[in-house]
Amino acid sequence: MDIIVLKPEATEDDIRHVVKKLEGKGLKAHVSKGTERTIIGVIGDTSRISEDEENAIRAIESVESVTRIIKPYKLASREFKKEQTVIKVKDREIGGKKVVVIAGPCAVENKTILMSIAEKVKEAGASFLRGGAFKPRTSPYSFQGLGVEGLKILAEARQITGLPVVTEIMDPRDMELVLEYSDIIQIGARNMQNFRLLLEVGQCDKPVLLKRGLSATIKEWLMAAEYILSKGNENVILCERGIRTFETATRNTLDLSAVPLLKELTHLPVVVDPSHGVGKWNLVIPMARAAVAAGADGLLIEVHTNPEEALSDGEQSLKPSLFKDLMEQIKPIAEAVGREV
Ligand code: PEP
Ligand code: MN
Repeated sequence: MDIIVLKPEATEDDIRHVVKKLEGKGLKAHVSKGTERTIIGVIGDTSRISEDEENAIRAIESVESVTRIIKPYKLASREFKKEQTVIKVKDREIGGKKVVVIAGPCAVENKTILMSIAEKVKEAGASFLRGGAFKPRTSPYSFQGLGVEGLKILAEARQITGLPVVTEIMDPRDMELVLEYSDIIQIGARNMQNFRLLLEVGQCDKPVLLKRGLSATIKEWLMAAEYILSKGNENVILCERGIRTFETATRNTLDLSAVPLLKELTHLPVVVDPSHGVGKWNLVIPMARAAVAAGADGLLIEVHTNPEEALSDGEQSLKPSLFKDLMEQIKPIAEAVGREV
């Protein structure tokens, strides 16, 4: 017994009654009030609940159905929530009809460069501005990001362009700071299983863009999302950014099959990052097109006005003119799959 759906007419008292029953069995309840129905996710070792006990819950008048889930993730599953999660950020929606595009440099390098990139991506039709202030670099000697200074520059760009900002958090100690300056918090691939960090962002009120770990299976990735959801933050966006395979010709192997599969397994929006997926600018547009065709709810694209001089990920960054081409090229594809850009 993992998911309890209450009847539409269930009252607050009915909800409390069921929650109390569960707590009496040493379980916890995650109550999710939808527009039509209240769904209760049962957290804890539900395998100990006998069939009789399960049937007794079924007998409660306000209970419509009780379902057992064999999958290890519950709150992230389609069984738990049938309708697609649509995340609202300002006047924008992620997971709705529109395929949203998040664009910007890998790292915030300085104010002039960021402003110019921000203006250009906005002009081309991006919905969100990205840029790292805390960068998870493979080498400790590489550019690590501007830190707080970078966050402030991002906030300034947001003010000027009106584009909400997506930026990465690497350390729970930076929570307050990152929350202050960003609209969506990114958890990078290297931190997908940093469980303390996941629990921390699970307690904040900003949506979280959770990138797939370098070698994470779909199940591990959804379990990471479950960490965030289990703390009460229902706004998780999954971001496929390529996984490590034997292939070295591309930076990673972009797993586009993850997109339709995730659409079956979870109600959470799925965004694709072809930039880190392929690692080469000339492959980004074709893979962005393919991602939209596969049903992605959004794209994350690295853009730089001067990729040759970029302090990180220049080789996979699109110049603004190419980013504009990308935006044009995905339009007919989005329409063909019943979406819009
Ligand atoms: C990034 O978005 O710049 C980044 C570091 O991505 P990832 O965590 O996917 O490597
Ligand atoms: Mn990058």
